[in-house]
Amino acid sequence: MSEKKYVYPFKDSHGLGKELLGGKGAGLAEMTHIGVPIPQGFTISTEACTLYYESGKKMPKYLIEQINEAIHGLEKETGKTFGGEHNPLLVSVRSGARVSMPGMMDTVLNLGLNDVTMNALAKETNNERFALDCYRRFILMYTNIAKGHPRTEMDKMLENLKQERGYKLDTEITAEELKGLVAKYKKYYVDIFGEEFPTDPYVQIIEAVTAVFRSWDNPRANTYRKMHHIPYAWGTAVNVQSMAFGNKGEKSGTGVAFSRSPATGEKEIFAEYLPDAQGEDVVAGIRTPFHIDELKRRMPHVYDQFMDTVHLLENHYRDMQDMEFTVEDEVLYFLQTRNGKRTAAAALKIACDLVDEGLITPEEAVLRVDPGSLDSLLHPTFDPAALKTIEPIGTGLPASPGAATGKIAFDAHDAKVRHENGEKVILVRAETSPEDIDGMISSEGILTKRGGMTSHAAVVARGMGKCCVAGCAEAVIDEEKETLVFNGKVYTKNDVISLDGGTGHVYAGDIKKVTPTLSGDFKRIMDWADEFRTLRVRANADTPKDAITASNFGAEGIGLCRTEHMFFGADRVFHMRKMILSDSLEAREAALEELLPYQRQDFYEIFMSMKGLNVTIRLLDPPLHEFLPQEEEKILELSKAMKVSVEKIKERIDYLHEFNPMMGHRGCRLDVSYPEIGRMQTRAIIEAAIKAQKDLGKKITAEIMIPLTLDVREFKFVKAIIEEEANKVIAENKADLDYEVGTMVEIPRAALLSSEIAPEAKFYSFGTNDLTQMTYGFSRDDAGKFLPDYYATKIFEQDPFAHVDEKGVGRLIKIAVEEGRATNKDLHLGVCGEHGGDPFSIDFFHRVGLDYVSCSPFRVPIARLAAAQAAIKNKK
Ligand code: PEP
Ligand code: MG
Repeated sequence: MSEKKYVYPFKDSHGLGKELLGGKGAGLAEMTHIGVPIPQGFTISTEACTLYYESGKKMPKYLIEQINEAIHGLEKETGKTFGGEHNPLLVSVRSGARVSMPGMMDTVLNLGLNDVTMNALAKETNNERFALDCYRRFILMYTNIAKGHPRTEMDKMLENLKQERGYKLDTEITAEELKGLVAKYKKYYVDIFGEEFPTDPYVQIIEAVTAVFRSWDNPRANTYRKMHHIPYAWGTAVNVQSMAFGNKGEKSGTGVAFSRSPATGEKEIFAEYLPDAQGEDVVAGIRTPFHIDELKRRMPHVYDQFMDTVHLLENHYRDMQDMEFTVEDEVLYFLQTRNGKRTAAAALKIACDLVDEGLITPEEAVLRVDPGSLDSLLHPTFDPAALKTIEPIGTGLPASPGAATGKIAFDAHDAKVRHENGEKVILVRAETSPEDIDGMISSEGILTKRGGMTSHAAVVARGMGKCCVAGCAEAVIDEEKETLVFNGKVYTKNDVISLDGGTGHVYAGDIKKVTPTLSGDFKRIMDWADEFRTLRVRANADTPKDAITASNFGAEGIGLCRTEHMFFGADRVFHMRKMILSDSLEAREAALEELLPYQRQDFYEIFMSMKGLNVTIRLLDPPLHEFLPQEEEKILELSKAMKVSVEKIKERIDYLHEFNPMMGHRGCRLDVSYPEIGRMQTRAIIEAAIKAQKDLGKKITAEIMIPLTLDVREFKFVKAIIEEEANKVIAENKADLDYEVGTMVEIPRAALLSSEIAPEAKFYSFGTNDLTQMTYGFSRDDAGKFLPDYYATKIFEQDPFAHVDEKGVGRLIKIAVEEGRATNKDLHLGVCGEHGGDPFSIDFFHRVGLDYVSCSPFRVPIARLAAAQAAIKNKK
């Protein structure tokens, strides 16, 4: 027999912590300690859950023995007997992970009942109806949860009975009728499982505990964990607690309470009470509970004790509590307490109020708000009440939050034209390409069939703060016929759909929206966050509009301006194509000359909107083939303008075609082949900076960033082109301008050779999108197709494109940071991949010692808060 302890009575486990006991178990131990009345019991630890899985999903004998021993202890404590003919002990068996996962796992109530204990209960309480009600509930829950059989048929039996008798409520069913129902349930059990319903409570309890452990691995728990970054390895604890009966009659009942409003954060107790009921009735919505005043009306002394306990618990935990309670024959019991889930607005208000009430410090307040939740305060959202009345027609990835409604547009051009005519449209595409950018700007939201969280559509949409549902595989999209089909129902361009970018749901028709108000609490929390954080926060912004949004949200500069997005406007792409398709230096330079004014103006506006804050502009990055014309008509137009035959153009298109463009002729490789591109861009940047510096009357440092560097000689080659042109422009203008040349680190080789590159570079920005793609060796655009298989098999628990992979990609970053700083102590370090806006990744970036993170404008407040949390949590 193992020496290890897996089972802990509540009364002996104060202070053992949530890691071991789970949240509910730790709460019950704490409540016992501070004298809150709870039904006694014990916790089977999270380590037991791990043991169960490690034992091949079996309960080892010594674990069963420890549970049995704990039952004996509980018998002594309560003076009741498990399976006893007199005074029988009945228990609830409930899950309780380290962090609460509401509704994700399973619970069994009234365990310990069989014909004998049921009769004893009936006799001793002088209430046969009550005992039978417990029994029928237990048989149903046991069949459903412990045996994993759907409850539909048993629910129907109850419904039919009520209908036959013309009853509205379960409470109207008589004892005699319940007896009949119990018999029916038991017969049904035999029919399904070919054996009698188990009468031995020691068998019942092990089955129930096993079921709770099993529920840790059910699909909804897995989904919830992935969404909230909860490791599978944590496991759940199980709490076995002697039953308090809320269904004993009019002097009994059950309820839930929040110590403050979970919706608004208002300091008012938000509680509901349902007389003569067990907790599941409230949860399942079988009967509508009353306002807590009902308890006051019925039993004022119990109500007073209830209110006192709510205050006691909130003051003890110094946070808003979510509690369950039961009244059994006028005796009050609390069944659980936990820090309540709340909306972002409520979280901000509660945190600020608790500081004002002297219960927590500003540092604690900053830790109390989930950075990710702030997103919902930055975009309009659907009215939650309206969403309750409507079912989604499909679901994809929640790629960029927001609520969007509009008529369907199946191509970017159509979206643009209709938008210009005042129509609200949703762009629906199998996938988007950079050429769709105008259409994306013109749309309320974007729906794609393919692509993951870092697909083009997702990245661009997040950058724009535009709602996007990506990778909605179940959508059947025919762009030619202009139809979108979900489950056989066809939607055309005249149909309105709505997208919820926060959940990935797609709805038919319009849905009411609410614009969340930013209260002063938001600013207070942000101001505190700014005091505590050491990481700076910049934004990824390609347009003046994005730059202004970013600085309104508190961005301290631009960490990445992707210049390629500037070439996709209809008039610009034409010159770009001319440049790409030219096969002589002169022709290329002529085309670049035409692009120069556009670039200069764009950069000037961005410098101006950042009012002197640092701006990092990256040279052209994508493979040229992305700009190539596809349609005959466009090719013909180019052939005329360039005075080159259509055949020649097609030849050049063929030549530029790449099998693996992401690993092809892109990034600084373009400048190695065509230095004139880098020269034109440098000129545009420097001329724009000189003018902005003058107009702002402020010093500017232009930061020019070389993408996709993989070798120091390559970096020096491109840097020389930049420096030569920059110095020339500065001299031409007789200007005094500072500029710096740095590089993206997004190829593993660059990270590994950091000590060679660092002395040549002023700064690094980790491009973790490419660095992840290249470290894993799978494409960021296609991985969405097979990653779900990796989650299902638990090879991966998280999307490495959403949360930085600390072990692999993180190791490369660490090497690059340490070896880079060792050879260049002034090296300025940041990150501009999508991870720069992800709170979990930000914690790592803080620990590895970066100077700043850069993220899409709408994630700036999230990053500021996450950076503060990282600083506080990692303080020595
Ligand atoms: C990156 O690779 O992380 C990056 C920021 O560049 P892009 O997404 O434009 O490739
Ligand atoms: Mg990149």
